[in-house]
Amino acid sequence: MASNKRKVDAAISPPPVKRKAQSSITKSSVASFFTPTSQKPKERTVWSERTPDEDTPATLLVGRYEPENETEAEQDRRKRKKVAAFDLDSTLITTASGKKFGDDPADWKWWHSSVPSKLRQLYEDNYRIVILSNQGGLILHPDPKSKGPKAGAKAKVDKFKQKCSAVLTQLNLPTTLYAATGKDIYRKPRAGMWKELCEDYNIPQDEVDFEHSIFVGDAGGRIAVLKGDTSVAKDFSCSDRNFAHNVGIPYTTPEEFFLEENPREFSRDFDVTKHPYSEDSDNLVFDKQNEQDIVLFVGPPGAGKSTFYWRNLKPLAYERINQDTLKTRAKCFKVAADALSDGLSVAIDNTNPDADGRAEWVALAKKHNMPIRCVWFKTPLELCKHNDTVRALNKPMNPEARTVLPQLAFNGFGSRFKEPKAKEGFQDVIEVEFKFKGTKEEHDIWGQYWT
Ligand SMILES: [Mg+2]
Repeated sequence: MASNKRKVDAAISPPPVKRKAQSSITKSSVASFFTPTSQKPKERTVWSERTPDEDTPATLLVGRYEPENETEAEQDRRKRKKVAAFDLDSTLITTASGKKFGDDPADWKWWHSSVPSKLRQLYEDNYRIVILSNQGGLILHPDPKSKGPKAGAKAKVDKFKQKCSAVLTQLNLPTTLYAATGKDIYRKPRAGMWKELCEDYNIPQDEVDFEHSIFVGDAGGRIAVLKGDTSVAKDFSCSDRNFAHNVGIPYTTPEEFFLEENPREFSRDFDVTKHPYSEDSDNLVFDKQNEQDIVLFVGPPGAGKSTFYWRNLKPLAYERINQDTLKTRAKCFKVAADALSDGLSVAIDNTNPDADGRAEWVALAKKHNMPIRCVWFKTPLELCKHNDTVRALNKPMNPEARTVLPQLAFNGFGSRFKEPKAKEGFQDVIEVEFKFKGTKEEHDIWGQYWT
């Protein structure tokens, strides 16, 4: 990994200290006995930052807390192979004011009174305690070119740190809080924070006790229910449950963990487990029927259109017409018309959601007096978003170096989409269901939750 990342990392670990066997009365506790109470206690949370890759400013905020008497903790650090990881907001703490989000560093209370004692019990049962939080509202390093008030961003981060330091101080356990502020590999459900904590605490992946580790978070994709007379809202997200799936450890909600409530029903918009890896090289091979023709794609971004082109149509010498590369729609028509005049077949690798837009391609086919066929990619939008994110966040699977598309790109397709019909002027409409294609190693990445 990046060398500068290592440098940042170095700041997190306190320098190694050789300790002689000590009695439970430490030097500092004796010292504090004689310290006037007016003197503030030492801040025991050490803050540092991490970068997702060498070209990006740091986005992961890390606060490591070491209690005053850490002799015991240091001695058995290496033995902790069970991880008890917790989300922060609406899991360990909530606002004291009842507001949805609290900016005030003092505006917090435990989610339930049993939280500190339960975490201490886990620590005593030899668990490594960590806190993993998405904090998309924080900006660690505002873009110097952006117009927003930079002082405001910094103040917000400072307040967050103050609040977390207070939480960690009350817990008073050796623990680390990770806060993902970017939309990158660190953001749950992506597994980046898990990898960081395993490195920080020197737990090799093959030594983790996955079965007995646990992740507790409120974003469990639970559906709305009626509890007596009151209705309980659905979860805002499934990112905590999906994070635990990615890591390979059991998941529970705070209600199940702290209150011993029964699990509630949940649902996922997109379930990766319904797309297991299979080797059978498949099914659909494009069946060329005309000497020269136009093949028009219909499907959202991330549906698998370009992959289909490279696998099935490129070998048949189809010319690819793609607006991302050609920039304008007019250019697409020009290049397509030229290729047709040269005797080539063309594949229109655009989204083509609506019948009006498609009619212009049908007209072009008529003008050149040749058939036009339609390939309809029926990939659901949630799956398209997943594909798009996998591609954007994994360099080896991203030959065209694309970034994550905005939600608008998917919504736009959804709102304009009309099912393609042969009567629009197509020779036929070939329906393609999405199927993952790639190696087992690629599927290990694709088969995680990314959105
Ligand atoms: Mg939460």
